[in-house]
Amino acid sequence: LLEARGIRKSFGANEVLRGVDFSVRRGEVVTLIGPSGSGKTTVLRSLNGLETPDAGTLAFDGGPEIDFATPPSKADRLAMRDRSAMVFQQHNLFPHMTVIENVIEGPVRVQKVPRARAIAEAEALLDRVGLAEKRDAHPFELSGGQQQRVGIVRALALKPDLLLFDEPTSALDPELVGEVLHVIKELADEGWTMVVVTHELQFARQAADEVLFMDGGVIVERGAPERMFRAPREERTRRFLDRLL
Ligand code: ATP
Repeated sequence: LLEARGIRKSFGANEVLRGVDFSVRRGEVVTLIGPSGSGKTTVLRSLNGLETPDAGTLAFDGGPEIDFATPPSKADRLAMRDRSAMVFQQHNLFPHMTVIENVIEGPVRVQKVPRARAIAEAEALLDRVGLAEKRDAHPFELSGGQQQRVGIVRALALKPDLLLFDEPTSALDPELVGEVLHVIKELADEGWTMVVVTHELQFARQAADEVLFMDGGVIVERGAPERMFRAPREERTRRFLDRLL
Protein backbone atom coordinates (compact mmCIF):
# COMPACT_ATOMS: atom_id res chain seq x y z
CA LEU A 1 0.00 0.00 0.00
CA LEU A 2 2.78 2.36 0.95
CA GLU A 3 6.51 2.49 0.43
CA ALA A 4 8.76 5.15 1.97
CA ARG A 5 12.51 5.19 1.48
CA GLY A 6 15.31 7.21 2.96
CA ILE A 7 13.07 9.71 4.70
CA ARG A 8 15.08 12.49 6.30
CA LYS A 9 13.86 15.46 8.26
CA SER A 10 15.60 18.15 10.31
CA PHE A 11 14.14 20.90 12.42
CA GLY A 12 16.90 23.49 12.33
CA ALA A 13 20.08 21.74 13.46
CA ASN A 14 18.12 18.85 14.97
CA GLU A 15 18.14 15.92 12.56
CA VAL A 16 15.06 14.04 13.66
CA LEU A 17 14.77 11.44 10.87
CA ARG A 18 18.03 10.07 9.51
CA GLY A 19 16.93 7.84 6.67
CA VAL A 20 13.78 5.92 7.50
CA ASP A 21 12.65 3.06 5.23
CA PHE A 22 9.14 2.00 5.77
CA SER A 23 6.52 -0.06 4.00
CA VAL A 24 2.98 -1.08 4.83
CA ARG A 25 1.02 -3.78 3.06
CA ARG A 26 -2.73 -3.59 2.65
CA GLY A 27 -4.53 -4.98 5.69
CA GLU A 28 -1.42 -4.85 7.82
CA VAL A 29 -1.17 -3.38 11.31
CA VAL A 30 2.21 -1.81 11.98
CA THR A 31 3.08 -0.45 15.40
CA LEU A 32 5.86 2.01 15.87
CA ILE A 33 7.52 2.00 19.28
CA GLY A 34 10.57 3.70 20.69
CA PRO A 35 11.78 6.25 23.22
CA SER A 36 10.37 9.73 23.46
CA GLY A 37 11.91 12.00 20.85
CA SER A 38 13.02 9.16 18.58
CA GLY A 39 10.99 10.57 15.67
CA LYS A 40 7.88 8.38 15.67
CA THR A 41 5.38 11.21 15.39
CA THR A 42 7.45 12.87 12.69
CA VAL A 43 7.33 9.67 10.63
CA LEU A 44 3.54 9.57 10.86
CA ARG A 45 3.21 13.23 10.00
CA SER A 46 5.48 12.72 7.00
CA LEU A 47 3.25 9.93 5.68
CA ASN A 48 0.22 12.16 5.92
CA GLY A 49 1.69 15.31 4.42
CA LEU A 50 1.62 17.24 7.70
CA GLU A 51 5.42 17.40 7.53
CA THR A 52 7.46 17.63 4.38
CA PRO A 53 10.64 15.53 4.58
CA ASP A 54 13.93 17.03 3.37
CA ALA A 55 14.82 13.90 1.41
CA GLY A 56 13.52 10.48 0.53
CA THR A 57 10.68 9.07 -1.54
CA LEU A 58 7.14 8.10 -0.76
CA ALA A 59 4.61 6.26 -2.88
CA PHE A 60 1.15 4.91 -2.29
CA ASP A 61 -0.23 2.09 -4.48
CA GLY A 62 -1.38 3.53 -7.72
CA GLY A 63 -0.17 7.02 -6.82
CA PRO A 64 2.83 9.00 -8.00
CA GLU A 65 6.23 8.45 -6.39
CA ILE A 66 6.98 11.64 -4.55
CA ASP A 67 10.68 12.49 -4.35
CA PHE A 68 11.29 15.02 -1.61
CA ALA A 69 14.55 16.12 -3.23
CA THR A 70 12.34 18.81 -4.72
CA PRO A 71 9.41 20.33 -2.85
CA PRO A 72 6.28 18.31 -3.63
CA SER A 73 3.69 19.92 -5.87
CA LYS A 74 0.30 20.80 -4.49
CA ALA A 75 -1.19 17.91 -6.49
CA ASP A 76 1.30 15.48 -4.93
CA ARG A 77 0.52 16.75 -1.46
CA LEU A 78 -3.21 16.38 -2.01
CA ALA A 79 -2.78 12.91 -3.51
CA MET A 80 -0.84 11.90 -0.41
CA ARG A 81 -3.14 13.54 2.11
CA ASP A 82 -6.24 11.82 0.79
CA ARG A 83 -4.83 8.34 1.23
CA SER A 84 -4.55 8.44 4.99
CA ALA A 85 -6.33 9.86 8.02
CA MET A 86 -4.74 10.63 11.34
CA VAL A 87 -6.03 10.13 14.85
CA PHE A 88 -4.16 12.48 17.14
CA GLN A 89 -3.00 12.16 20.71
CA GLN A 90 -5.45 14.87 21.64
CA HIS A 91 -8.64 14.27 19.71
CA ASN A 92 -8.66 17.78 18.18
CA LEU A 93 -12.46 17.88 17.91
CA PHE A 94 -14.02 21.25 17.18
CA PRO A 95 -15.43 22.29 20.58
CA HIS A 96 -18.31 24.38 19.22
CA MET A 97 -19.63 21.58 16.98
CA THR A 98 -21.69 18.57 17.95
CA VAL A 99 -20.34 15.06 17.55
CA ILE A 100 -22.11 14.46 14.26
CA GLU A 101 -21.03 17.84 12.88
CA ASN A 102 -17.44 17.02 13.78
CA VAL A 103 -17.64 13.70 11.97
CA ILE A 104 -19.21 14.99 8.75
CA GLU A 105 -17.02 18.09 8.51
CA GLY A 106 -14.26 16.39 6.47
CA PRO A 107 -16.50 14.38 4.14
CA VAL A 108 -18.83 17.32 3.42
CA ARG A 109 -16.36 20.20 3.39
CA VAL A 110 -13.31 18.56 1.86
CA GLN A 111 -14.61 15.54 -0.04
CA LYS A 112 -17.89 17.14 -1.17
CA VAL A 113 -19.98 14.18 -0.05
CA PRO A 114 -23.71 15.10 -0.02
CA ARG A 115 -24.70 16.06 3.50
CA ALA A 116 -27.51 13.51 3.91
CA ARG A 117 -25.22 10.68 2.88
CA ALA A 118 -22.41 11.89 5.14
CA ILE A 119 -24.84 12.01 8.09
CA ALA A 120 -26.13 8.49 7.43
CA GLU A 121 -22.59 7.14 7.22
CA ALA A 122 -21.50 9.04 10.33
CA GLU A 123 -24.45 7.66 12.29
CA ALA A 124 -23.56 4.12 11.28
CA LEU A 125 -19.95 4.64 12.38
CA LEU A 126 -20.96 6.20 15.70
CA ASP A 127 -23.22 3.26 16.31
CA ARG A 128 -20.34 0.91 15.68
CA VAL A 129 -18.23 2.45 18.43
CA GLY A 130 -21.19 2.62 20.82
CA LEU A 131 -21.76 6.36 20.59
CA ALA A 132 -25.01 6.57 18.63
CA GLU A 133 -26.76 8.35 21.49
CA LYS A 134 -24.03 11.00 21.69
CA ARG A 135 -24.76 12.20 18.18
CA ASP A 136 -25.85 15.69 19.25
CA ALA A 137 -23.58 16.11 22.26
CA HIS A 138 -20.71 18.57 22.30
CA PRO A 139 -17.19 17.29 22.93
CA PHE A 140 -17.04 18.77 26.46
CA GLU A 141 -20.00 16.59 27.43
CA LEU A 142 -18.05 13.42 26.65
CA SER A 143 -15.41 11.53 28.59
CA GLY A 144 -11.87 11.51 27.22
CA GLY A 145 -12.35 7.97 25.95
CA GLN A 146 -15.57 8.90 24.20
CA GLN A 147 -13.93 11.95 22.65
CA GLN A 148 -11.13 9.80 21.34
CA ARG A 149 -13.63 7.32 19.90
CA VAL A 150 -15.28 10.22 18.07
CA GLY A 151 -11.79 11.17 16.85
CA ILE A 152 -11.45 7.66 15.43
CA VAL A 153 -14.88 7.83 13.78
CA ARG A 154 -13.93 11.15 12.26
CA ALA A 155 -10.90 9.51 10.64
CA LEU A 156 -12.95 6.51 9.45
CA ALA A 157 -15.55 8.80 7.89
CA LEU A 158 -12.90 9.95 5.41
CA LYS A 159 -12.62 6.34 4.15
CA PRO A 160 -8.84 6.46 3.96
CA ASP A 161 -6.71 3.57 2.73
CA LEU A 162 -4.51 3.98 5.77
CA LEU A 163 -5.27 4.96 9.37
CA LEU A 164 -2.51 6.66 11.31
CA PHE A 165 -2.73 6.71 15.11
CA ASP A 166 -0.40 9.02 17.00
CA GLU A 167 -0.29 7.78 20.58
CA PRO A 168 -4.07 7.63 20.67
CA THR A 169 -4.30 6.76 24.36
CA SER A 170 -1.44 8.66 25.93
CA ALA A 171 -3.58 11.65 26.92
CA LEU A 172 -6.23 9.47 28.59
CA ASP A 173 -6.77 8.53 32.20
CA PRO A 174 -5.65 4.92 32.67
CA GLU A 175 -9.18 3.57 33.10
CA LEU A 176 -10.21 4.97 29.71
CA VAL A 177 -7.31 3.49 27.74
CA GLY A 178 -8.92 0.07 27.34
CA GLU A 179 -12.08 1.20 25.55
CA VAL A 180 -10.07 3.09 22.94
CA LEU A 181 -7.58 0.28 22.37
CA HIS A 182 -10.53 -2.08 22.06
CA VAL A 183 -11.99 -0.02 19.19
CA ILE A 184 -8.60 0.11 17.45
CA LYS A 185 -8.17 -3.64 17.87
CA GLU A 186 -11.60 -4.26 16.33
CA LEU A 187 -10.72 -2.09 13.35
CA ALA A 188 -7.49 -4.03 12.96
CA ASP A 189 -9.43 -7.30 13.04
CA GLU A 190 -11.80 -5.94 10.39
CA GLY A 191 -8.85 -5.53 8.07
CA TRP A 192 -8.12 -1.81 8.23
CA THR A 193 -4.54 -0.95 7.34
CA MET A 194 -2.98 1.06 10.12
CA VAL A 195 0.19 2.45 11.59
CA VAL A 196 -0.03 2.97 15.34
CA VAL A 197 2.53 4.93 17.33
CA THR A 198 2.10 3.70 20.86
CA HIS A 199 3.64 3.36 24.28
CA GLU A 200 1.20 0.52 25.03
CA LEU A 201 3.50 -2.41 24.49
CA GLN A 202 0.87 -5.02 25.29
CA PHE A 203 -1.28 -3.54 22.57
CA ALA A 204 1.67 -3.45 20.17
CA ARG A 205 2.26 -7.07 20.92
CA GLN A 206 -1.34 -8.25 20.56
CA ALA A 207 -2.55 -6.19 17.63
CA ALA A 208 0.46 -5.77 15.36
CA ASP A 209 1.52 -7.79 12.39
CA GLU A 210 4.84 -5.99 12.48
CA VAL A 211 6.56 -3.91 15.15
CA LEU A 212 9.09 -1.26 14.25
CA PHE A 213 11.45 -0.06 16.94
CA MET A 214 12.75 3.44 16.36
CA ASP A 215 15.60 5.17 18.12
CA GLY A 216 17.59 8.26 17.23
CA GLY A 217 15.77 8.90 13.96
CA VAL A 218 16.22 5.47 12.41
CA ILE A 219 14.35 2.19 12.51
CA VAL A 220 16.69 0.03 14.53
CA GLU A 221 14.77 -3.21 14.28
CA ARG A 222 11.57 -4.57 12.82
CA GLY A 223 9.82 -7.87 13.11
CA ALA A 224 6.83 -9.91 14.16
CA PRO A 225 5.78 -8.91 17.68
CA GLU A 226 6.33 -12.30 19.30
CA ARG A 227 9.89 -12.57 18.03
CA MET A 228 10.73 -8.95 18.75
CA PHE A 229 9.45 -8.99 22.32
CA ARG A 230 10.83 -12.43 23.13
CA ALA A 231 14.18 -12.17 21.41
CA PRO A 232 15.16 -8.70 20.25
CA ARG A 233 18.21 -8.81 18.00
CA GLU A 234 19.53 -5.36 18.68
CA GLU A 235 21.00 -4.19 21.96
CA ARG A 236 19.08 -0.91 21.80
CA THR A 237 15.77 -2.73 21.37
CA ARG A 238 16.56 -5.02 24.26
CA ARG A 239 17.40 -2.13 26.56
CA PHE A 240 14.19 -0.31 25.64
CA LEU A 241 12.00 -3.38 26.15
CA ASP A 242 13.75 -4.39 29.38
CA ARG A 243 12.97 -1.00 30.83
CA LEU A 244 9.29 -1.19 29.97
CA LEU A 245 8.22 -4.81 30.24
P1 ATP B 1 7.21 11.22 21.68
O1 ATP B 1 7.05 9.78 22.01
O2 ATP B 1 7.71 12.01 22.82
O3 ATP B 1 6.01 11.83 21.02
P2 ATP B 1 8.48 10.91 19.13
O4 ATP B 1 9.31 9.70 18.99
O5 ATP B 1 7.13 10.87 18.52
O6 ATP B 1 8.40 11.29 20.64
P3 ATP B 1 8.84 13.25 17.58
O7 ATP B 1 7.61 13.87 18.13
O8 ATP B 1 8.81 12.78 16.18
O9 ATP B 1 9.31 12.06 18.50
O10 ATP B 1 9.99 14.30 17.79
C1 ATP B 1 11.34 14.04 17.50
C2 ATP B 1 12.14 15.29 17.73
O11 ATP B 1 11.75 16.30 16.80
C3 ATP B 1 12.00 15.91 19.10
O12 ATP B 1 13.30 16.29 19.50
C4 ATP B 1 11.14 17.11 18.86
O13 ATP B 1 11.46 18.13 19.77
C5 ATP B 1 11.48 17.50 17.45
N1 ATP B 1 10.37 18.16 16.75
C6 ATP B 1 9.22 17.57 16.37
N2 ATP B 1 8.41 18.42 15.72
C7 ATP B 1 9.07 19.61 15.67
C8 ATP B 1 8.77 20.89 15.12
N3 ATP B 1 7.62 21.13 14.46
N4 ATP B 1 9.69 21.85 15.26
C9 ATP B 1 10.85 21.62 15.91
N5 ATP B 1 11.19 20.44 16.45
C10 ATP B 1 10.32 19.43 16.34
